[in-house]
Amino acid sequence: MTLINVICYYCGSSRSSHFDSENGFNIVKCDSCGLLYVNPRPSDDDIANGAETGLHKGEQTLDLTGTFNDEQVQRFNNIINKIYGKNVPAENSSWLDIGCGHGEFMTALKVKFENKLILKGCEPNSAKVESALSKGLDVEAFYPEEHSESYDYVSLLNVYSHLTNPLNSLNNWKKLVKPGGELLLETGDTTDLTKETIAKPYYLPDHLSFATKNIVIDILKRVGFEILKIHYFRHQGIPELNIVNVPYDIKETITGKKNIKELKKYTKKYSHRDMWVRARRIDNG
Ligand SMILES: [Zn+2]
Repeated sequence: MTLINVICYYCGSSRSSHFDSENGFNIVKCDSCGLLYVNPRPSDDDIANGAETGLHKGEQTLDLTGTFNDEQVQRFNNIINKIYGKNVPAENSSWLDIGCGHGEFMTALKVKFENKLILKGCEPNSAKVESALSKGLDVEAFYPEEHSESYDYVSLLNVYSHLTNPLNSLNNWKKLVKPGGELLLETGDTTDLTKETIAKPYYLPDHLSFATKNIVIDILKRVGFEILKIHYFRHQGIPELNIVNVPYDIKETITGKKNIKELKKYTKKYSHRDMWVRARRIDNG
């Protein structure tokens, strides 16, 4: 595996401080903008190979292909209801899910909108493509930047953190959203999180960066989107009451007083960091 040194893709600064380590990789925090990113990171070829095979090499090789997850569909159903409610897309609207995996989100969309959408999925991992096809979903492996069609809706769930340069990718991919169409982008918000309060594992080197709300919003605006609404949900990796990541002094207070209310308040503050941004494309370029 080839490792390359990189600078912050958001602000261009090369100054950073060590944040945490996992699986033989380091996460650094940009001294200037606060972006957390893996440095050095695998080469572009290694990253593309990882996305296609689901195998990510570090001290241990992570096999992250997995299988179709029904609980995930249930979770997406709840989230779609909260985000869209009665705000239903027009019949026969087209929807592209980039990085659709086994098709859990597409399945949840089908349930919510009763087959009224024309759904398409894009996924680099061939085993996941086969899995989604077996569920009757229209999924293909293609590079979004080489795709010529455009859609009323595009979703990007758990894709941002896998990109080497989300600013460039979103700039290239925005043409997939029709002018006036909507983008739904999901990623974590790491604003003010420390290595004690951030969700773990990081899944390095499959994930390459962890951004803050301000960075994601600014990137979307710069490439030509307006923000419609931001929703927060509990990070799926964090159980309701998680005292593992609670700093010692707070844990002491809580366990000492058995103050469940305090613990709930704390875990809500730090674990509801799964950010879903609904944005509309306003440029015509
Ligand atoms: Zn930066």
